[in-house]
Amino acid sequence: MEELIILGTGISGCTAAIYAARAALSPLVISGPEDGGQLTLTTDVENFPGFPEGVQGPELVQNARKQAERFGARFKVDIVQDIRMEKNENSSRIFELDLVSGEKIQCKTLIVATGASARWLGIPSEEKYKGRGVTTCATCDGAFFKDKEVVVIGGGDSAMEEATFLTKFCTKVTVVHRREELRASKIMQDKARKNPKIEFIWNSVIEEIYGEKIVQGIKLKNVNSSEIVDFKTDGVFLAIGHIPNTKFLQGKVDLDDHGYIKADKNMHTSVKGLFAAGDVQDTRFRQAITAAGSGCMAAMEAEKLLAEEE
Ligand code: NAP
Repeated sequence: MEELIILGTGISGCTAAIYAARAALSPLVISGPEDGGQLTLTTDVENFPGFPEGVQGPELVQNARKQAERFGARFKVDIVQDIRMEKNENSSRIFELDLVSGEKIQCKTLIVATGASARWLGIPSEEKYKGRGVTTCATCDGAFFKDKEVVVIGGGDSAMEEATFLTKFCTKVTVVHRREELRASKIMQDKARKNPKIEFIWNSVIEEIYGEKIVQGIKLKNVNSSEIVDFKTDGVFLAIGHIPNTKFLQGKVDLDDHGYIKADKNMHTSVKGLFAAGDVQDTRFRQAITAAGSGCMAAMEAEKLLAEEE
């Protein structure tokens, strides 16, 4: 029986592991399919405090892991495929996890820090140009598109935010949206609409991405007329939302309409002993520093609960 299991080795899971390990809980941290989380997909992280020259995303998360290991956290590469929750005689819960490897593990407290993965379009040419002009992160990759023209796909807050951010580097940013009404909040829309470098193409979806080795253009289909037009561009930024990694928790803990775990300000969920941290419960900030902060909070709350139950 483990005292605490942490699901996810992104920055929130690793920070939870540092705090729990320093509290002598010897947490077991299970990686999931994307070991290291979203930071492993980025390059320079320039907004994490303490690194005046910036830090590489993969390095940041690897160092956090080493730090947790130094205090006794144990890391395991595996994936949770099912979870059961039982009440024991003290009316606190026991969690039983089924791992893909076939192993079953029990724990008294659980921190879910499984993150969220960017949604992709799912068209074949997108796969071909991933990292060659097609990306899901303007903050990570925007600087590579200095003096270039790019498109941003999506009509939500993320699309407006990314388009506005990209105008720092790019000569022109075209937002392509599948409807003629944006989903984004008025304030974010207004900011984007007022920016002279941003243009909009409505009622359109990407049919195909093409280029020699790197992106050179896209074929856009008008959803009303089915007309297909050619559009030259140097980059495609997808901002069509994120999918929280909570499939294995459906029906077991309260999730919002988009599948994010509902957590209170102290990272407690609808299930006693189950805490959430990082992007799996965050629809608003989704920053490395906020993910780390919530990981710290979840670990401190788990420790408090274990101490109370003892
Ligand atoms: P979102 O609100 O779900 O918007 C996703 C956008 O992508 C929608 O416009 C949607 O079109 C479009 N889309 C989805 N699938 C598509 C597909 N297959 N092809 C083409 N377009 C597609 O996601 P988000 O913008 O990432 O925002 C998520 C949450 O974070 C929201 O609650 C948002 O308010 C919040 N957020 C807040 C801030 C901020 O306050 N600073 C910044 C970013 C995000 P439809 O509109 O037609 O559905």
